[in-house]
Amino acid sequence: AWLSVAEARTVLLASPRSFCAGVERAIEVVEHLLDTRGGPIYVRKQIVHNSHVVSGLERRGAVFVDELDEVPEGATVVFSAHGVSPAVHAEAAGRGLEVIDATCPLVTKVHAEARRFAARGDTVVLIGHAGHEEVEGTLGEAPGRTVLVEDVADALRLEVPDPGRVSYLTQTTLAVDETAEVVQALRERFPGLRGPASDDICYATTNRQNALAAIAGEADLVLVVGSPNSSNSVRLVELARRHETAAHLIDDARDIRPEWLAGVRVVGLTAGASAPPHLVDEVITALSGLGRVRTVQRRLTEETIRFTLPSAAR
Ligand code: SF4
Repeated sequence: AWLSVAEARTVLLASPRSFCAGVERAIEVVEHLLDTRGGPIYVRKQIVHNSHVVSGLERRGAVFVDELDEVPEGATVVFSAHGVSPAVHAEAAGRGLEVIDATCPLVTKVHAEARRFAARGDTVVLIGHAGHEEVEGTLGEAPGRTVLVEDVADALRLEVPDPGRVSYLTQTTLAVDETAEVVQALRERFPGLRGPASDDICYATTNRQNALAAIAGEADLVLVVGSPNSSNSVRLVELARRHETAAHLIDDARDIRPEWLAGVRVVGLTAGASAPPHLVDEVITALSGLGRVRTVQRRLTEETIRFTLPSAAR
């Protein structure tokens, strides 16, 4: 029997969601090189942390490598949106590689701050997640002066050579509320703590968290489209759970388990900054196959920011 309109499940679409300007730019760089030069185009690390984006570009001739020694001498290599340390730039130069840098300009800004803070003699506290590519790159700007702090507990036990000279920076894709707590803990330990002029957590991360926070309380279930290695996507799942709403990270519609939907009237839906918009459409289609749905979008803000392509990719 047909469900009545009243019985339809509501899909609350958080907005903004999905691609940010830095991700769009990085993908355009690789696409432009494939279009104008043909494959293979080497890319160090995943261009953005999304399995669908990576496999799509691979099909068109992009070759993803973990380290530069996998790139033939003299070839062209693209650096991913997450940025690289100066040591990686030096290695590329040493091997005669042509580098096209798709680092997000908002990550480049954090690298510049790291150099500036270190140059004035500060210990630079980088708030971020160990092992993430962006963190490795930023740490590499001033390796002798930078320390990684992951959480409040780390901040509380941090020892520095001169407590009067401490600055902090952050990874761009952290949880806004949790990061504020870490900064507060650092400030209590080091009252002279200095930081960036404006937040290092980028506009896209902030907007996606705010948009999801606005609907998470109303939803019985939150689905976040994104890959498991996408930092900002994982933060969205955690945010929903902090609102006491069940939440799952899904790479695409095939990951949806029908039992998640049992008794669920309102599904909150969003996507991390590296997840393509068409995957969200496919999730809505899949949910429609599991019962009638009514889709309602909640737009918190309009994103108009665009970054110009690097000159080699224009
Ligand atoms: Fe740049 Fe933010 Fe997008 Fe990362 S999430 S690529 S920092 S805009």
